[in-house]
Amino acid sequence: MNDIVQPYDVEAIRRDFPVLSTTVRGKRLAFLDTAASSQRPLPVIEAVNHYERTSHANVHRGVYELSQKATDAFEGARERTRRFLNAASLREVIFTRGTTESINLVAQSWGRSTLRPGDEILITWMEHHANIVPWQMLCEQTGAVLRVAPIDLRGDLDLDAFRALLTPRTRIAAFTQVSNALGTVLPIAEMIAAARAAGALTLVDGAQAVAHRRVDVQAMDCDFYVFSGHKLYAPTGIGVLWAREAVLRTMPPWQGGGDMILSVSFNGTRYNELPYRFEAGTPNITGAVGLAAAMDYVDAIGLERINAHEQRLLERATTALLAVPGLRIIGESAHKAGVVSFTLEGVHPHDLGTILDAEGVAVRTGHHCAMPVMDFFDVPATARASFGCYSNDADLDQLIVALARAQEVFG
Ligand code: PLP
Repeated sequence: MNDIVQPYDVEAIRRDFPVLSTTVRGKRLAFLDTAASSQRPLPVIEAVNHYERTSHANVHRGVYELSQKATDAFEGARERTRRFLNAASLREVIFTRGTTESINLVAQSWGRSTLRPGDEILITWMEHHANIVPWQMLCEQTGAVLRVAPIDLRGDLDLDAFRALLTPRTRIAAFTQVSNALGTVLPIAEMIAAARAAGALTLVDGAQAVAHRRVDVQAMDCDFYVFSGHKLYAPTGIGVLWAREAVLRTMPPWQGGGDMILSVSFNGTRYNELPYRFEAGTPNITGAVGLAAAMDYVDAIGLERINAHEQRLLERATTALLAVPGLRIIGESAHKAGVVSFTLEGVHPHDLGTILDAEGVAVRTGHHCAMPVMDFFDVPATARASFGCYSNDADLDQLIVALARAQEVFG
């Protein structure tokens, strides 16, 4: 890990990410799709490699030394995650496959055992499908009703409408901290306070937030916080569900199998303690090791500094993109993270993506798993550039040049 001192040395950070020095179609790679999945730095790659070479065995089961080493690595990652989130206890940190699985776990365990017909679940219009569909499924199973708080044309939540939609029947409000499609940073402190005052639990989808701002679940005062490792410079297939212990204690296990039990007989099964009762089967040990290394990595740079760097890029990108004729930015909140969604007149976003790719620019094009947002803005899809700790001015310059090229081709 580089010893990074002021000012923010983005070129030193870039040297930690081997993929960034590769070329695409003979061009320098301008990777602007971090919101979909971030790249991995050497310390993460090396931590995974070291674990694979020296310590792998199944966890929690063996008395032999290698299994104990693997268990220490896995449980060490849990403690690292607890510190990263400032969770009160290790019992509150559950490893999952990612944000999607974490939300499904909450819906199927807490929701299915708690909700009655006519109970309400409140989400917002700018949720990722992962924070819509599990609740729709839960509504079908329980007779609960899904309510959706509206957004405005800038891409901001209508906070008054959100408050008005909280009723004595609202059992949970589930919302994203940062919109992946628009970049909007939601006023989650106000939303959590309002939901709590109405007697509802809260779930915060931190998928687009954890790599960009410090999260303190105790200060946040939510009940569930979920995120994916692969958006935090860690491998895919590992994620986290943090839940308040008092709530977890009311929840039945979701998936059954090994590791989540204390004893099994045909007369009945006794479930394991927290958090293990929610981790059936062999977990993603390698992923957890990588996740812990990724947390060390971003903490060594400083999340506040990463955020400041991305905010500067966001401002520069917004100004430069608005100067491109026919370009419309979708999502113009005054509170945004490093995400810019846009359309270009006369060029379908998918064609745009293909032309940008030929210029070495990797941006996401499509509905970004947020089809209701696309419907709201009446666009079939957008192109989206998103930034991470390693994004630099050269990436932006390359994007602007590539957009001019797309206009030549389609103009
Ligand atoms: N929520 C948000 C806001 C996201 O941006 C994403 C992924 O893009 C998800 C949920 C789903 O994450 P995963 O596919 O890692 O489970």
